[in-house]
Amino acid sequence: MDMLNVISVLFGAMIGSFLNVCICRIPEGKSIVTPGSHCPQCGKAIRWYDNLPVISFLLLRGRCRHCRRSISVQYPLVEGITAILSLLLFIRFGPSLRYVIYFAFTAALVVITVIDLYHQIIPDVISLPGIGAGLLASWILPEASVVNALLGVLLGGGSLFLVATLYEWLFKREGMGGGDVKLLAMIGAFLGWKAVILTILFSSLIGSIVGVAVMLWKGRDFKYAIPFGPFLSLGALIALFYGEPLIFWYLTLNR
Ligand SMILES: [Zn+2]
Repeated sequence: MDMLNVISVLFGAMIGSFLNVCICRIPEGKSIVTPGSHCPQCGKAIRWYDNLPVISFLLLRGRCRHCRRSISVQYPLVEGITAILSLLLFIRFGPSLRYVIYFAFTAALVVITVIDLYHQIIPDVISLPGIGAGLLASWILPEASVVNALLGVLLGGGSLFLVATLYEWLFKREGMGGGDVKLLAMIGAFLGWKAVILTILFSSLIGSIVGVAVMLWKGRDFKYAIPFGPFLSLGALIALFYGEPLIFWYLTLNR
C-alpha cells in the first residue's frame, strides 16, 4: 500500500481520537482543549500509551487500566470510522486542499451524528460556524463556487424549515428539530445545492427504511423520535462521494 495512504489512515485515527473528546465535551459545554484525556469513570489521566487510537482499546481489552471499568465502544468505533473516511477522501482527492476541507467537513458530520444519537440535539456551535466555514471553502476552492454554496445554504435551510413548519402545523407537534435545518444548511454550504437535493433523497429513503425496521422490531407503539441528523450526515457523505456521477447518470437518463 502507498505510504501516503497509510499516513492518511493514521492521521484519520488521530483526529478520530480528538473527535471522541469533542463528542463527550461539547454537549456539556466543556473545553475541548483542556484538561487532557481522562477516564470518565474514575477520573484518572490517560497516558499517551493508553491513548493510541483503536490499538489501546484492544490492548486494554476495553477496560480502564486503573479502575478496570469498561470503556465505551464509541471510542474505537469513532476512531476507526474517521480513519476509513480519511483514507477514502485521500484516495478520491489526493494530497490537496479539497482533501483537507472535505475531511474537516466529514469530521464535523461524525461528531454531529454521535451527539445526535446520544442526546437528540445538533449543537449550534458546530453547525453555525460550519455554514460559515463551508461558504469560505467555496470561495477558496477553485472547484467550488460561492453562488452554488449560497444556493445550497438557502435550499438546505429553507426546504427543511418549510417541511418542519408544515409538519408542526399538520400534526401539532415538533417533528424535525431546528438543528436538522441548520445541519442541512451547512451541508449545502460545503457541497452546493444539487447535493442538498441528493442528501434529502438519500436521508429520507434510508431514514424511512430504518424507521420502519425499528418500529417493527420495537413494536407498533414505538413513539421515540429517531434522530434525523445521522441520516442527513450519511446522505451528505453519499452526495459527496457519488453526487457527480449520480447527477450525470440522471441527466443522461432523461435525454
Ligand atoms: Zn478508570
